Amino acid sequence: MDPVSVEIADIDGLPEGVADHFREQGIEELYPPQGEAVEAGVADGESVVASVPTASGKTLIAQLAMLTSVARGGKALYIVPLRALASEKKAEFEEFEQYGIDVGVSTGNYDSDGDWLASKDIIVATSEKVDSLVRNGAQWVDDLTCVVADEVHLVDDPNRGPTLEVTLAKLRKLNEDLQTVALSATVGNADEIADWLDATLVDSTWRPIELRSGVLYGQALHFDDGSKTQISRGNEKATAALVEDTLTDEGSSLVFVNSRRNAEASARRLADVTRDHLDPEERDRLAEIADEIREASDTQTSEDLADAVAKGAAFHHAGLASDHRALVEDAFRDRLVKVISATPTLAAGVNTPSRRVIVRDWRRYDGDVGGMAPLDVLEVHQMFGRAGRPGLDPYGEAVLIANSHDELDELFERYVWADPEPVRSKLAAEPALRTHILATVATGFADTEDELVSFLERTLYATQTDETGRLETVTQNVLDYLERNEFLARENGGLRATGLGHRVSQLYVDPMSAAEIIYGLRDAEDRPTAFGLYHLVARTPDMYELYLRSGDREEYTELAYERETEFLGSMPSEFDDGAFEDWLSALKTARMLEDWASETDEDAIAERYGVGPGDIRGKVETAEWLLNAAERLAGELDLECGPAIREARKRVEYGVREELLDLAGVRNVGRKRARRLYEAGVESRADLREADKSVVLGAVRGRTKTAETILENVGRKDPDLTGVEADTELDTESSADAGDGGQQSLGDFE
Ligand code: ADP
Repeated sequence: MDPVSVEIADIDGLPEGVADHFREQGIEELYPPQGEAVEAGVADGESVVASVPTASGKTLIAQLAMLTSVARGGKALYIVPLRALASEKKAEFEEFEQYGIDVGVSTGNYDSDGDWLASKDIIVATSEKVDSLVRNGAQWVDDLTCVVADEVHLVDDPNRGPTLEVTLAKLRKLNEDLQTVALSATVGNADEIADWLDATLVDSTWRPIELRSGVLYGQALHFDDGSKTQISRGNEKATAALVEDTLTDEGSSLVFVNSRRNAEASARRLADVTRDHLDPEERDRLAEIADEIREASDTQTSEDLADAVAKGAAFHHAGLASDHRALVEDAFRDRLVKVISATPTLAAGVNTPSRRVIVRDWRRYDGDVGGMAPLDVLEVHQMFGRAGRPGLDPYGEAVLIANSHDELDELFERYVWADPEPVRSKLAAEPALRTHILATVATGFADTEDELVSFLERTLYATQTDETGRLETVTQNVLDYLERNEFLARENGGLRATGLGHRVSQLYVDPMSAAEIIYGLRDAEDRPTAFGLYHLVARTPDMYELYLRSGDREEYTELAYERETEFLGSMPSEFDDGAFEDWLSALKTARMLEDWASETDEDAIAERYGVGPGDIRGKVETAEWLLNAAERLAGELDLECGPAIREARKRVEYGVREELLDLAGVRNVGRKRARRLYEAGVESRADLREADKSVVLGAVRGRTKTAETILENVGRKDPDLTGVEADTELDTESSADAGDGGQQSLGDFE
């Protein structure tokens, strides 16, 4: 298609004032791919798949679709691939609230129907969340007129792709006229995605800012256009030399490496480069940010990150707490942090463009292969796409590093000149279908086997495959499994979810997790221990277990025998290698949860299990969710262990021992303050409402404002602390206090 010139003012049907708003932001003429999308009718309710490079204005395409749809009296849904992106997108869309557009974000628990969203015009949610809202019968889903799927190429992801795929199929079945807008990175087969979604394809490689990609070998940086630049190296390693070279041009760099440890080590080294390029003001501001990082968590990771940031470098990976990540991303966008060393998580959507992108590691460990495997072209191109900040940089540069002449050629072939792989549906796998078939039946999308098959034919998988047999075989296996576990009943080709099946679908757990939990709970006495319950949920497929490191096997085998009586369900034989190994990994995870729920310090846990604060929080959240599911399942099956599960869940939620549960549930109290209050004789909420104010003040280290907030939260009639002196006797006792303000009960961070 010829490039078309479209002005924002040419677009009819935007809410009053919005066009001016865009103009004020410097968006006057549409970028060519945006123009093509408008030509294809994206602002008139037509479905469009836009396959365009990163940072080429995909968001605006989505906004035009959603805003015009809302102006016509409709309702729009924006599906994001990562939870971290949900709030970023919400903040972006909230600028339209001044024109009467209500924006809501749904990230909470997976078992509610989110009725409050009914009044919103634009809703932002992950595909898992949308899936769960559909399962829980959210009425407003029927009113949707426009759905946007961001990063739709992720249907290729074996873990999360099927949910996006099935969710889109469901939404489109619920409403045949639904406008579907799918945004994708440039992929080989965007036409198939467009076919599947009955949408017009906008396929473009246009970028607002020039991207040069190339490979560094020795001192020579070879570019795709045949040109070459010299990078002076001295004794420096390649990455450091590239970062230094970018800095002399006042530019920032993103360095992609293949593991968390490498990200941390690289940041440490690069900090020695960046420190010499800071002016005094930058140094002061970085010192402040470093302090904020230290406050966000008291772990070694946090300390290391703060040290690097103070010198103008940072690392970024999934082990960081979300506060850390936000601080690093902001400081990078503000040009204070000059380089980030990141694992590929950062390439997956977070908006952090940079002058130069350096892909240092193009191989990473792959458990399926049992060794190092090269990254996908699509992934590397996504990293490349982060190069060049529109309006700030004259161009972007993406660089791979070769260690030999052969590698130089190989990297050009493999990545620089290569086209990304085609996107393939991953739906026809048992774990994915187990979950989605049960939900499809439970929510009434299919009442018979025939209807189920015809529903599955609406998926990308069906569009892509010629092998109809495979989907049917897997479907039959899954139906057998669901029937055997009494989640589903089959009669003369008819399908019906049982009460239990409905419950499992609503709780949003994998049916195999539910089966494991039920099996364990049926085996339990009335009062299973918290540890037994943590182990039970840790061994379900919904919990990402901790790895066993060398030496762990002996340690945890010993622990397994020591605490054998606490396990729910039977322990596999030591000779059944795979099963036993899994059992031990779950045991390690369970002991970490137990440590957390016994008030062990976060840094001690991080050290003991070799994990970052983000991992601890992730496991805690997952455990809370699965224990909640376990409690509901126990109720459904009339088992007596409900209260024990509830207590185990609360303990993990607040990170406290049993006696602190009452206190730690008060907002702003958290695990450490609860312990200090308890030691000062304030043992419950009732005590707190009556306690001597100077004791309360002493327990929060004399922070009057905090103490007043806590007293208000607990419902004390006279929370005012004017003139009260802290009882300081307490201060000497708990040395473990760190950053009173920061880490409250982890239950709040949703
Ligand atoms: P993508 O979603 O494709 O990664 P974004 O939508 O974030 O890219 O766009 C990148 C940047 O380009 C944003 O800062 C956006 O404001 C700006 N932008 C988008 N469209 C236009 C336009 N037509 N004119 C000027 N700037 C634009």
